[in-house]
Amino acid sequence: MAKAKEMTPLMKQYWSVKSIHPDKIVLFRMGDFFEMFHEDAQIAAPLLGIALTARNKKSGDQTPMCGVPHHSIAGQINKLLEAGKKVAICDQVEDPKTAKGLVKREITRILSPGMVYDPETLESTSPNYLCSLDENTLSFMDSTTGECFYFLVKDSTEISQFVDTLNPVEIILSEKQEKLFHIIKPEHWKGVVSFYEDLLDQEKDLPRSANRLLSYAVSMQGESVLSSLHPFEKRNSRMRMQVSSQVFRHLEIFKTYKGEKDSSLFAAINRTRTAGGARKLKNWLQFPLIDPSEIVQRQDQVEKWVGQYDDLKSLRKTLFQVGDLERRIGKISQPQCHPRDFKSLCDSMGAALELLKFYEELPKNNEAVEKLKKLRLELESAFVDEVPANFRDGGFIATGFNTKLDELIHIAKDSQSEVRKLESEEKEKTAIPSLKVRYNNVFGFYIEVRNTHKDKVPKERYQRKQTLTNAERYVTDELNELEKRVITAKSKRAELELEILEQLKKNVISSMRALVQLAQECNQLDVFTALAYLAVENDYSRPTLKEKGKISIEGSRHPVIEQVLSNQFVANDIRMDSNQCLLLTGPNMAGKSTLMRQVAITSLMAQIGSFVPARKAELPLVDKIFTRIGASDFLTEGLSTFMVEMTETAEMLNKATENSLVILDEVGRGTSTYDGMSLAQSILEYFINTLKSYTLFATHYHELTDLEDKYPEQLLNRHMAISEDSGEIRFRYQLKEGAAGKSYGIQVAKLAGLPGPVVKYAGKLLKEYEAHHHREVGGSAQLDLWQRMAEEQTEVQESQPNPELEKWLENIRGLEIQKLTPLDALNRLAQWQQELS
Ligand code: ADP
Ligand code: MG
Repeated sequence: MAKAKEMTPLMKQYWSVKSIHPDKIVLFRMGDFFEMFHEDAQIAAPLLGIALTARNKKSGDQTPMCGVPHHSIAGQINKLLEAGKKVAICDQVEDPKTAKGLVKREITRILSPGMVYDPETLESTSPNYLCSLDENTLSFMDSTTGECFYFLVKDSTEISQFVDTLNPVEIILSEKQEKLFHIIKPEHWKGVVSFYEDLLDQEKDLPRSANRLLSYAVSMQGESVLSSLHPFEKRNSRMRMQVSSQVFRHLEIFKTYKGEKDSSLFAAINRTRTAGGARKLKNWLQFPLIDPSEIVQRQDQVEKWVGQYDDLKSLRKTLFQVGDLERRIGKISQPQCHPRDFKSLCDSMGAALELLKFYEELPKNNEAVEKLKKLRLELESAFVDEVPANFRDGGFIATGFNTKLDELIHIAKDSQSEVRKLESEEKEKTAIPSLKVRYNNVFGFYIEVRNTHKDKVPKERYQRKQTLTNAERYVTDELNELEKRVITAKSKRAELELEILEQLKKNVISSMRALVQLAQECNQLDVFTALAYLAVENDYSRPTLKEKGKISIEGSRHPVIEQVLSNQFVANDIRMDSNQCLLLTGPNMAGKSTLMRQVAITSLMAQIGSFVPARKAELPLVDKIFTRIGASDFLTEGLSTFMVEMTETAEMLNKATENSLVILDEVGRGTSTYDGMSLAQSILEYFINTLKSYTLFATHYHELTDLEDKYPEQLLNRHMAISEDSGEIRFRYQLKEGAAGKSYGIQVAKLAGLPGPVVKYAGKLLKEYEAHHHREVGGSAQLDLWQRMAEEQTEVQESQPNPELEKWLENIRGLEIQKLTPLDALNRLAQWQQELS
């Protein structure tokens, strides 16, 4: 930085601002541009893809700088925020035309990933949460929609889970919390951490974490931000199905393993027409219900719309016009809000109010609705069709809206014709045909006379203002008089229009509650109708849910894969009672994982109140869903370690209940066969004996299928059918009773072209192994697996003392290799070979 005395006044002004905000990128308004200097410029230029230049190359000032036009900063600011930066906007706070000396500049707004500039440029289907925590609460705020809520949390695992699931873009911590948060920070969370000690007085009845969010928001954007925030709502996650963020990942609910959103369940079932509806559907999926009456209420709504397909279609057209009502409401109370924002709010409101006719439950003419209708009419008549981008000079309020404004507009227009009149009068009086009345910012109105006529000018009336090479400029008293009138009318008009805008803003804010309610009704209606549309479009059915009931799904499909494969997807009937375990066997690629996931997804969909991809479904009310996907199926996540697999399994074993739905896919694959198989069996039996959860278990340890003899009531052996068609294996994706044929692996190998002897020998080994294995695992006197393995070890040892073999080995040991000729060695080998055959 240059020394203060060498700095220009402008740079002094810049540094006085920058030094207060060293951690932010300062956008410094200069004329039509927002400029960034020094390090800010070096950071921002590549992020924004703009050129980095020097401030004043000629004078040798090497200050790096870059800039963006003021009218297009919204997108640029978002790029900076997305990169995790914070931005301070330093604007001109007086009119440069009237300013004496250096234009006054001030920080007008501070922005961060959680406190954005233009919410309509964000991804519309995701909320933009700020988050904060204290000893026992975790609070969230979406400043773009006003949504505010908190959870009571009992431990750091819960905090970590909520953060992982709700994915806030920014977390506000006090310095003291840094260490703790570092420990519990979920691996997949990519937001930014900001440190902030709150300054607002702690409000009674409000958790500290919520208070900190409010205080932070005010510190960033001033008190006005409060008017668009809803009161903090306490949410009880314990009244919801417990689904961890890992389960959402395993089932690919919001993203696939590869991080693609397009192939997720959410993308496959989201038929909402508004951004707010999409956000709500997402929230429903994050927190499925467990109260049967709440589920039935939602199902009733969906069913109602399924039955009114024509209404449904026209309603969805109107919904589409609602746009992002919530975020449009949120924009109005922001300082940079533009008259165009009012216009789009007005359009949204119009469509939303039209939807009220579809609500039988709502009174059509209650006070709130009337107020909103009035407000909408007011907004509709307030603005001209084409609102100018720069609205500070007025020209955006329509004529006829305000009589005082109409008068001013009239005067302004009138004085224009007065100017023309004065001009022609002067031409006549002076007999100078080329005389012109003109206007510029420096002198205002003036009369211009070309040099050839300058002698004709009446010196007593004309005062000279400026001399040009070939013309002279004058003013007269009359002209000054006129100018005053024009200018006052113009500036009065601009002033009045801004005043009207401010009043309209107040009117909107005073209707905030009703507006928010309207938006929420729309979101809800959108989700119900979207689920109905989805159900009709994909032939889903309404499931029945019963506590501790059975799972019985006829014609069950996987909602995502089904859409990819269209009519090639094979539907299955899946049945199991409570306290039963479905043990799935079959070769790779037979459809085991798909089937199990579709059961979990069906259950999840049912408990958000949706219809499900099946012909008919009876389902139990599930309190929690657990999934454990074996390491090898999960390589892309970089979680392939056996340790992770076991940590998750441990958590599952500690938390699952008899009302939980558990998916175990190839557990134990990440370790050696005996280890893995022992663990898999032990876990499976623990579910059967102790936890009694609804368990679906896919395994390649074929041995486990023998457990059916031990648990004939609880264990259901099932497999995915395969057929052979003229020497080619065909997956039929049909769920069948019984365990899979044991030699599928060998059959597949044969078809793949493995040499005959290898296949034959493998078949022989398999038979031997089965005979041996059956003796031990099957039957009533089944031995503990550990014991069995111990025995196998001793068997190997016992089989070693073989007199023939011993003698032979002795021969080899006693051989004096140094004394053998190559021919001797060859002869010896030939002899042994003969003995052996
Ligand atoms: P597994 O777990 O037995 O190895 P997957 O469940 O991963 O097999 O399924 C392998 C592939 O088979 C899937 O990616 C899908 O394309 C196809 N598939 C699975 N189930 C079905 C089905 N019911 N109908 C049609 N194709 C299916
Ligand atoms: Mg699989």
